Amino acid sequence: MPDQYAVIGNPVAHSRSPLIHEAFARQTGVDLEYRTLLAPTDGFTATANEFRAGGGRGLNVTLPFKGEAFRYAAFLSERASAAQAVNTLKFERGVIFGDNTDGAGLVNDLTKNLVRALSGQRILLLGAGGAARGVIDPLLQQQPLQLTLANRTPDKAQSLARSFGGAIEAGDYDALAGRQFDVIINATSASLAGKLPPLPPGVFAPGALAYDMMYGKGETPFLAFARNEGVAQLADGLGMLVEQAAESFFVWRGLRPDGAAVLKQLRQMQNA
Ligand code: NDP
Repeated sequence: MPDQYAVIGNPVAHSRSPLIHEAFARQTGVDLEYRTLLAPTDGFTATANEFRAGGGRGLNVTLPFKGEAFRYAAFLSERASAAQAVNTLKFERGVIFGDNTDGAGLVNDLTKNLVRALSGQRILLLGAGGAARGVIDPLLQQQPLQLTLANRTPDKAQSLARSFGGAIEAGDYDALAGRQFDVIINATSASLAGKLPPLPPGVFAPGALAYDMMYGKGETPFLAFARNEGVAQLADGLGMLVEQAAESFFVWRGLRPDGAAVLKQLRQMQNA
C-alpha cells in the first residue's frame, strides 16, 4: 500500500493540498496517497489517532486545529515552538513530531518565486493571529531593517512582539500614519470578510511589494488598495500555500519538490 498522508481540518473539502502533494509525488517519484480528513471540531485527537493507527505517515493541519496539533506532538521543531502552532505532523517509529512550515513557505515564496530579498527591508506585518505568529521568526531570520506589527487590537500585537524579545515593534494602524514600508504582508483575516485593514494612504514606499496571505478569491480589498496606491508588485498567498507544502514534503520524505512548477500549474487552473 502507498504511504498515507492527509490534511486534517474543518472545513477541509476545499483544500488544494491533495492536488499539490500528488504533483510533488509525481515529480519526485514517491508512491504516496494524500487525502482530506474532516475532523469534528471537538474531535481532532481521536481523528488523528485513528489515522495514525491505520498506518498514516503524516498530516498537514489547517484551521482550526493548529493549536491542538501543537499540543498533540511529543517533539517539536524550533520553528513550531516559536509559532506555538503546528501545521505538519510526522509519525515515525511511534513518535509524533510537530513542525510548522508556514513561515518557511512565506519566506520561500517571497525570496524565490517573487525574487524579493528581505534583508535590509522595512517589513510591515498586519494582524496578530496564528498566521502572523507563525511567520515572525522566519521573517526575522532574513534580517530585515525592521519588522513592524500592526493590529486592530494593539494589545495583541504588543504581547506578540514581547514574546519575540523586543526584536519587533508593534502598535495600532493609527501609528502607521506618515511611515513607509518596502514589504507589507496582510496576515489578517479581513480579506475573508471582504474588508480592508485600516491602512493610511502613503504607507507603501516606492517599489514596495504588497502580499496578501489570502488566496483564491480574486483581488482582495488589500491588494486593490495597494494597486490604487501605485504598488506594482502584488501577490496573493497561493505561493505560500505551495511552498509550505513543499517544506512539509521535505520534512516527511527528505526530498525537495519544485514548488514553482506546481504554482505555475495552479495559476493556470485558476485562470482557465
Ligand atoms: P486569526 O483568526 O488567528 O487572526 C485574525 C487576525 O485578523 C487578527 O489579528 C484580527 O485582529 C485580524 N482582523 C480580522 N478582521 C479584521 C479587520 N476587518 N480589520 C483588521 N484586522 C482584522 O486568523 P489566522 O491568523 O489564522 O489567519 C489569517 C489569514 O491568513 C487568513 O485569511 C488565512 O486564510 C491566511 N493564511 C494563509 C496561509 C497560506 O498558506 N496562504 C496560511 C495560514 C493562514 P484582532 O486581533 O483585532 O481581532
